[in-house]
Amino acid sequence: MSPRVVFWVSSSIRALLIVIATGIAAYLWGAVTGLLLGFIAMSGLVLLQLFYLQRLADWLDNPTSSRLPDGWGAWTDIFSRLYKSRRGDEKNQAELTEWLARFRQAMTLLPDGVVIMDDVLFLEWCNPAAESHLGLSLAKDKGMRVTNLVRTPEFMDYIILGRYETPLTLSFRDRKLIAHIIPFENRRQILVTHDITESERIDMMRRDFIANASHELRTPLTVINGFLEIASLQPDLDITIRHSHLKLMTEQGERMQRLVEDMLTLTRLESMDHLLRVETVDMRGLLEQIFQEAEALSAGRHQITLEIDGPDIRGSKDEIRSALTNLVTNAIRYTPEEGKIHISWINTPQGAKFSVTDNGIGISPEHISRLTERFYRVDKSRSRETQGTGLGLAIVKHVLLRHKAQLLIDSTPGVGSKFTVQFPANIAIEE
Ligand code: ADP
Repeated sequence: MSPRVVFWVSSSIRALLIVIATGIAAYLWGAVTGLLLGFIAMSGLVLLQLFYLQRLADWLDNPTSSRLPDGWGAWTDIFSRLYKSRRGDEKNQAELTEWLARFRQAMTLLPDGVVIMDDVLFLEWCNPAAESHLGLSLAKDKGMRVTNLVRTPEFMDYIILGRYETPLTLSFRDRKLIAHIIPFENRRQILVTHDITESERIDMMRRDFIANASHELRTPLTVINGFLEIASLQPDLDITIRHSHLKLMTEQGERMQRLVEDMLTLTRLESMDHLLRVETVDMRGLLEQIFQEAEALSAGRHQITLEIDGPDIRGSKDEIRSALTNLVTNAIRYTPEEGKIHISWINTPQGAKFSVTDNGIGISPEHISRLTERFYRVDKSRSRETQGTGLGLAIVKHVLLRHKAQLLIDSTPGVGSKFTVQFPANIAIEE
């Protein structure tokens, strides 16, 4: 039976019982007494309904499933149905609250900025990434117009033109962003921001690198082409001149080869998947070899000394050799004849330390922070004269980065330079 039928049947039975009871009372004690008793019974029934109505009204003021009153008669069914519906609502609300919390957490962790605005761009909500990208503060700026907060001509134009199907590339507070407005619902819009500062910087470095590398390769190529042209136009050129041309061409070819080798080394070091091959590095053997090479390069023009008092270490032997050789070679190349160069390998409480000290031409302070940039040279002609590629210290920087070591440069123009490599303490092998 449906609840509605139950309600009507039970109410009718109750009313019928009162009518029968009234009839019996009238029969036994007279019509007046019977009607009076019937009236009292009816009034009791009405009062009971009013009592439950009042309880229902009280509950509706603060409806929770735990406080729902018990009923009587048809009210039992009403209250039980209300209880079921209320429990369902509470469950849905709990699920909704949980979903909302999850959604907010996801939005908080999102690296892209999300700003929710109304149709006239008043800020309703934004996530932390949007706060940092656009310098917003949800607590302070809620309800403010986003165009008053992001004040750049590009953004204004984007809003005015309203061509939201194409994203906007925006420079804002030292950041490069891609901003995109997406209309949603009837009267709301989402602004999504994506930070491309880092990828732009890497792109720029790549472009600079290609431009610099092409420029570096163009000079020797031009020289070689020039001599080749002379050779083809003047086949009877004097043999001594021809020899000198060949010598110069060979030098330029070697210069190109050094450049290409250094570029390949840098690329190898930079590529993320080129993992560090860690092995035991016999530092005494390595430094003695570097020392001999230095003596050969100097060819007696400098006084070179070597002090070894440090431990063997763990790292990539080839990479460490390449970094330390670059530093020693630089000391020779930038120290005039008769100059002194001291190479040392010692242990310190902070870790093993390599240093090469020269009394060469030195470096002005304004150049020091830029020395490890690719192709950065203090004196271009001196670097070329001494067969420099401009990539030596960039290679050193990358090798040290991979070994968690630090490069310290101390230099005074006209007095000399000291390049120190501080390795971390845990790289040393205990004896
Ligand atoms: P390069 O091939 O030009 O030597 P590097 O990257 O090895 O390139 O060095 C960058 C610049 O740092 C050099 O051009 C030079 O000006 C300067 N430099 C490096 N080492 C020394 C040094 N020991 N004394 C003076 N200047 C140095």
